[in-house]
Amino acid sequence: MNKINRKIAVLGAGGLGACLALELSQRGYQVDLYEEHSEPIKKASFVNEGKIHLGFIYAMDKEFHTSREMIIGALHFISNLKRWVEINPEEVISTPFNYCIHKGSLMNAEELAPHYQKCIDFYGEAKTFYKKKYLDLFDTIDASLLPRTKIDGIVNPEYIDDVFSTTEYSVEPRTIAEKLTAALLATTSINLMVNTRVNSVSKIDSKLKVSSTREEIKMEEVYTDVVNSTWNGLLEIDRTMGIEPINSWSHRYKFGNKILIPLKSDELPSCTMVQGPFGDTVNFKGKGAFMSWYPIGRTGWSEQDRPPEWDQMYSDSERDDIFLRSFKELSNRIPALDNLKFSPEDVSPVGGVIFALGNTDVDKHESKLHTRHEVGIRTFTNYHSVNTGKYTLIPYLAVKVADRLEGID
Ligand SMILES: Cc1cc2nc3c(=O)[nH]c(=O)nc-3n(C[C@H](O)[C@H](O)[C@H](O)COP(=O)(O)OP(=O)(O)OC[C@H]3O[C@@H](n4cnc5c(N)ncnc54)[C@H](O)[C@@H]3O)c2cc1C
Repeated sequence: MNKINRKIAVLGAGGLGACLALELSQRGYQVDLYEEHSEPIKKASFVNEGKIHLGFIYAMDKEFHTSREMIIGALHFISNLKRWVEINPEEVISTPFNYCIHKGSLMNAEELAPHYQKCIDFYGEAKTFYKKKYLDLFDTIDASLLPRTKIDGIVNPEYIDDVFSTTEYSVEPRTIAEKLTAALLATTSINLMVNTRVNSVSKIDSKLKVSSTREEIKMEEVYTDVVNSTWNGLLEIDRTMGIEPINSWSHRYKFGNKILIPLKSDELPSCTMVQGPFGDTVNFKGKGAFMSWYPIGRTGWSEQDRPPEWDQMYSDSERDDIFLRSFKELSNRIPALDNLKFSPEDVSPVGGVIFALGNTDVDKHESKLHTRHEVGIRTFTNYHSVNTGKYTLIPYLAVKVADRLEGID
């Protein structure tokens, strides 16, 4: 079938849907991009922390599958993104992360050190194989245990036992979402259909019918190929095609609070507290700070096919309360937070859905949520269901899905 005869629907204009639509358009295809929200890329790919994972956090996956997957995704993140938007990584990266071993961690520094070394070694191999650099910037990566005498400049040792200084970074997701949105709107071969909720996909001979609703009007359209990249809507739509999830799953709602004031690099350390239900701070320099405290910010849990519409369920005052309580817990651990000067209007207390296989929370050793490798593309002839798993994997997967549609992969 040639490109003219191909009619492709991409469901969900989040990070993956946007990158995939742009990639397909560059390869000469027309794409209908469905989005139930009023704007593209305003959900998980907007509110997330933007950490481009080097596998360090996935130390509980003893098989190393998740770390391997993340490192490959991380190596492709910026170089693939450059296919669709102009981006200077220096302008979007955070300060590097400290991995802070919280009291009660499921693993201690001695147990974590060999895992970090394995990530560093695998990074070296993958970098040579793919001929790419982490964030298009770094030849090598590192995680070094700091002497205990040095940690109280970063964290409060009453809560934190040890700190590894690493070369893992976040990228500021709102800036990337803005660039991708501008690219979508400027691309005439992408028909972005906002306020359009996909209800089902069904087979019609060798083609696929997408049924959707826009402003209470029901619509149907037939396609040669459909890609489901709806994340919080993934399972519900897959079920209409008779496709079952590969394992038990959960949807969580987690707050990713932003403080939108410019920061100096030394004003706030970027910290990930491991290994368990703790939290993170990220210093995005001129683009502000991100902070989340899991025991307070993980407000929603659902094992339904489609999670509740959490975004609409919290009042402004509930959001402010979640921010303030998270801030207090975090500033007990990272004292620099208390020195930040900001007003309530600078705070953006937003949350997003995390869909993952596994339905036991991260405080348990056996939780499947400590792994994230059974992700990616599931293909059923011309219907493709994509569980991105992590933001880190989006640009890598977008190109993979396009290859799959062209029969290259
Ligand atoms: C607080 C938080 C922090 C996180 N931190 C990190 C991190 O640091 N690093 C990392 O790698 N990952 C992180 N993640 C995970 C990451 O955000 C997600 O894996 C990723 O953004 C998912 O991208 P996506 O394109 O699949 O989904 P989304 O960006 O959510 O896009 C899905 C789109 O589909 C639309 N949609 C849903 N249902 C329908 C329907 N029926 N019809 C039409 N449209 C529909 C939605 O409105 C949405 O726009 C975090 C997530 C959260 C919530």
